[in-house]
Amino acid sequence: MKNRKIDILLVEDSSSDARLLRQIFPHNGHEEWQIAHVERLNEAIVACKSELSLSLKDSTSQTIHQRRFDVVLLDLSLPDSTGLDTLKEFQKAVTDIPVVALSELDDEELAFQALAQGAQDYIVKDQITTQMLVRAIRYAIQRGQIFNQLRANEQRIREALAKEQELNELKSNFVAMVSHEFRAPMTIIRTSAQLLENYNPQLTEERRAKYFQRIQSSINQMVQLLDEVLFLSKTEVDRVEYQPAPLDLKNFCQELTEIFQLNTDAKRDIIFNHQGECTLAQMDENLLSCIFTNLLSNAIKYSFPESKIWFDLVCQEDVATFRVQDQGIGIPYRDQTRLFETFYRARNVGKIEGTGLGLVIVRKCVDLHGGEIRIISKEGVGTTITVRLPMHPPAKSEE
Ligand code: ATP
Ligand code: MG
Repeated sequence: MKNRKIDILLVEDSSSDARLLRQIFPHNGHEEWQIAHVERLNEAIVACKSELSLSLKDSTSQTIHQRRFDVVLLDLSLPDSTGLDTLKEFQKAVTDIPVVALSELDDEELAFQALAQGAQDYIVKDQITTQMLVRAIRYAIQRGQIFNQLRANEQRIREALAKEQELNELKSNFVAMVSHEFRAPMTIIRTSAQLLENYNPQLTEERRAKYFQRIQSSINQMVQLLDEVLFLSKTEVDRVEYQPAPLDLKNFCQELTEIFQLNTDAKRDIIFNHQGECTLAQMDENLLSCIFTNLLSNAIKYSFPESKIWFDLVCQEDVATFRVQDQGIGIPYRDQTRLFETFYRARNVGKIEGTGLGLVIVRKCVDLHGGEIRIISKEGVGTTITVRLPMHPPAKSEE
């Protein structure tokens, strides 16, 4: 059977005691004891903290330590520290190596207190036997390992708790923001309905139509908000999946362009261009719709009716690069880093309606599709958003 090697650091200033202790270690059995010896506390700390303490030599002038010690035998009375302070200082500097305290017969009480301070065991030097020493070291190592495991678990639990707390905070912030976003359209609906109810006979046809139209658009806003929040919560719990299927990308983009051209009041000029072989993709049409519906509606919403919008598609080396470019209000430089935060809207939106969730959703869909998104924008000049997506799902690795 292969011998188990146990690395021991003996911290003992009395050379006779050190010699005696070295002689006590058994030379057979399944364990191979490797003992390094230092005389001062700070040498012990250096030896334990550094994996390659080249300056420390043992009595045979070998480099004493190339790997971590399993246990430290620590005399509590050393030239640079005495009593419980020795243990305290050592444990402050080295937290994960078990310590067996060594004491003189007349300071057994002190050794006992050392146990309470975290030493794994204590040995009174005058009473030492091989059996006692070996048992103390084995127990100390075992207890040290259990202690380290407990500490690692505690750390993991603490981290999980902190993460959970952070998530809870995010969720309650999110709920607060959603409620806030609902408040504005609800207030508009309530006041418009009250005006219609209380002043109906006096209202002109035009006024009445205006209040009904306000109610309609507030309801639309709330429905859109609900849809967006629902979609986002689905992505949070992984209920939106990447489901690639054969897709003619060129057709897809062309149809989307037509839908937008027909459905916008001002019959916007959206110019679609494509390059490369784009008909044989295998992509998730729902995710793509979600991405480009949001990007095109932003391009329309944040630009002027007479300005043009370009929608470009380039298919090359199995990557589809989409570009949506407008000549609209642009995004102020300071806002650009925060566009993917929920409910964040740039400071120049003025009265243009929106909730600040569209780009968050776009980002989720792009991520789900294994792609990337880049925004280049200049306030007052326009915005270009580039999305790069793989045209086919990644090849499955062979089992
Ligand atoms: P909605 O959730 O209804 O889409 P939104 O349009 O305000 O609301 P996002 O689409 O997430 O939200 O966009 C976030 C912000 O980024 C916008 O409020 C706007 O300030 C800015 N933005 C996005 N696209 C453009 C664009 N093409 N031109 C100018 N600003 C833009
Ligand atoms: Mg938007």
